Amino acid sequence: MKSILSGIILIALYLLLVLAPLGVLLIEPVPAGSGFWWDLSLAMGFAGMGMLGVQFLLTARFRRASAPFGIDIIYFFHRYLAVFAFGLIVLHCLIIRVDNPSAIGTLNPLEADGYMAMGLLAMALFTLVIASSLWRKPLRIPYDGWRQAHTLFTAVGFVLAIGHIKGVGYYIDTPLKQSLWTAFTAFWVLLILYVRLVKPLRMLRAPYRVMNVVKERGDTWTLTVAADHHSGLRFEPGQFAWLTLRASPYALREHPFSISSSAVGADPLEFTIKELGDFTRTIKDARPGELVYLDGPYGAFSIDRVEASSCVFIAGGVGIAPIMSMLRTLADRGDRRPLLLIYANNHWEKVIFREELEELKTRLSLRVVHVLFKPHAGWQGESGLVTADLLSRVLPGNRRELEYFVCGPKPMNKAVEHALESLHIPLRQVRTELFDLV
Ligand SMILES: Cc1cc2nc3c(=O)[nH]c(=O)nc-3n(C[C@H](O)[C@H](O)[C@H](O)COP(=O)(O)OP(=O)(O)OC[C@H]3O[C@@H](n4cnc5c(N)ncnc54)[C@H](O)[C@@H]3O)c2cc1C
Repeated sequence: MKSILSGIILIALYLLLVLAPLGVLLIEPVPAGSGFWWDLSLAMGFAGMGMLGVQFLLTARFRRASAPFGIDIIYFFHRYLAVFAFGLIVLHCLIIRVDNPSAIGTLNPLEADGYMAMGLLAMALFTLVIASSLWRKPLRIPYDGWRQAHTLFTAVGFVLAIGHIKGVGYYIDTPLKQSLWTAFTAFWVLLILYVRLVKPLRMLRAPYRVMNVVKERGDTWTLTVAADHHSGLRFEPGQFAWLTLRASPYALREHPFSISSSAVGADPLEFTIKELGDFTRTIKDARPGELVYLDGPYGAFSIDRVEASSCVFIAGGVGIAPIMSMLRTLADRGDRRPLLLIYANNHWEKVIFREELEELKTRLSLRVVHVLFKPHAGWQGESGLVTADLLSRVLPGNRRELEYFVCGPKPMNKAVEHALESLHIPLRQVRTELFDLV
């Protein structure tokens, strides 16, 4: 209930911030209208800018703000609202271009007036940001470089767009409106400074040190880190943190990983990481004593957020990491609720935490169903994919009363969601974690 209320308050705050620039336009004296299309185009420009400004707030990772929704939902909205805001700004330009071509003048920023050049350059940067975000993977743009360019281009584009608005001066020509608009701009600049300077500084002052790296099955490593002379972080089992290794927190080279250790006692923290790309392939080279910076915890994928008499966990491969944190925590708390883990892997030899799961069965009321996609000769357990048919066989009779936690590769998450839906399990009881925010 509390989190629903905070969610509603945050959405109201969001709308207020988005509409604030439009509100400033309406403060008297309002200039005489210059025709429907002209005024509509300006309103779209201001609304688009209001929404773009809030994008910085959405990705600033304020824990209180993201808690009711989960950071994945916030990023989802960030993505689609940015496209919508960009659409408004494109319409702003197109309408003026058609309605009053002389107002835009040349499209060459080198020949345009200063404030128009700023508008054109801002537009070019926003176009680059949107295109590279939507098609980063097909265009094979490496994540780290994309993220640095994304941050730089949006900040510069935003400042140029503000310069454009101030240069045009239309609707913001009285001292009151000027100061409100300046305050609005200052708010966003301070926000950017907080996110890019103050937050990394805090991380720098509360570092962690690598304790060890242990090889797991399935090309996976568990990295253990301990707080270096501070109290460390408190987290809910299933949450994740952004981890920076061999770089400064200012370098924007952080990667999100679920905490796989128990939330009881918390420090030291463990992350179970699969070798996948440039960064994850270097985890095994981390040396004891090396510095690590963490930003977290984040996420709403936690058993502590639901009230359930019984839970089902469905994991695929390294998707076991956040679920392992939940199981370990429940074991440490002496929880005796009936639990079912359906754990899908390609090969038996790749099943991460296979032995520990056996041990956890003795401490929890836990049933584990292994599902192998490529079973070895003589395998007597479940095989193939996690389908509705398999679920209907292994889920208990009270399946509609249970809470579900699903974490695996994207196609598996989707397939499992559909399968659960086809078994009439209400989707509000299904929580999924996707290891892919962008
Ligand atoms: C909430 C969450 C929890 C995760 N938990 C785990 C976990 O417990 N164990 C685990 O092995 N993996 C986890 N991941 C995935 C992990 O973050 C990526 O595999 C890792 O960042 C890939 O980096 P790379 O340079 O090795 O691979 P690359 O080949 O560079 O990247 C592969 C893909 O991973 C994504 N990615 C890369 N870098 C980042 C980044 N800095 N931030 C966000 N996404 C990025 C991009 O979509 C990229 O295309 C999690 C991801 C998320 C979003």
